[in-house]
Amino acid sequence: MPAVDRQLVVFDFDWSMADQDTDRWVFEVNAPNIRRWMEDTERSGSMQFTDMVAKALREAHAQGVTRQQLEDALRITPFHPAMVRGITDLKAAGKTTFFCLSNANAVYISVILKEKGLTAMFDEIVTNPAEWDPSGLLVVRRRVDPSGPQHSCQVGCSANMCKGATGEELEAFYKRHQPAYDRVIYVGDGSNDFCPALRLRTQDILLCRSFGGLHKRIAREGGLKCTVKYWTGAWEVEEIFKAL
Ligand SMILES: [Mg+2]
Ligand SMILES: [Zn+2]
Repeated sequence: MPAVDRQLVVFDFDWSMADQDTDRWVFEVNAPNIRRWMEDTERSGSMQFTDMVAKALREAHAQGVTRQQLEDALRITPFHPAMVRGITDLKAAGKTTFFCLSNANAVYISVILKEKGLTAMFDEIVTNPAEWDPSGLLVVRRRVDPSGPQHSCQVGCSANMCKGATGEELEAFYKRHQPAYDRVIYVGDGSNDFCPALRLRTQDILLCRSFGGLHKRIAREGGLKCTVKYWTGAWEVEEIFKAL
């Protein structure tokens, strides 16, 4: 194997870096009735996911759920200590850039990374924009504004963001960070991680969490050029990182 001087690790967030789905978790902690509404709404397919999360946050605000309560829930989001160690040790070894590419939102990710002491590890975070308004409402918007031009992804990414090529998130990151990385490691679990996984090259590695939407799409659709390693617990990701 040729020497690797420039390595990139791309992290999905929910169920990949974190051991939970933050969009659902904050309501499981603070407003189970809204969590139920999300479940039913998602099953009905009547609303785009990011729009649904934004609406759920407005409803929680109307029910009296505070910024403090949401941030407290984020800080106790299940997050494996081996994941913290794995990222910290690989960063300390040098040569590796970390990029977080997520369908959650900027506030959820920044609160949790800060809590875990990982903020400085990440060069970039690309996700849905979010900010607190003065009343304590968390306002979340789609990464791809619904009133502007839409991405043209045919691989099945959600309207708010294509993580792969046609919506340009991974490709655009490569363009911002020339020259090309010697090796890219992508950590993901969901069906929307399939599009960027298709872009990985033969020398790249996909760390696919077992039994999620990504695993199912690989089994059904195939077409990947990279090496695929399956994992279930973050201790295995730490082990793989150590061996890189
Ligand atoms: Mg995920
Ligand atoms: Zn896509």
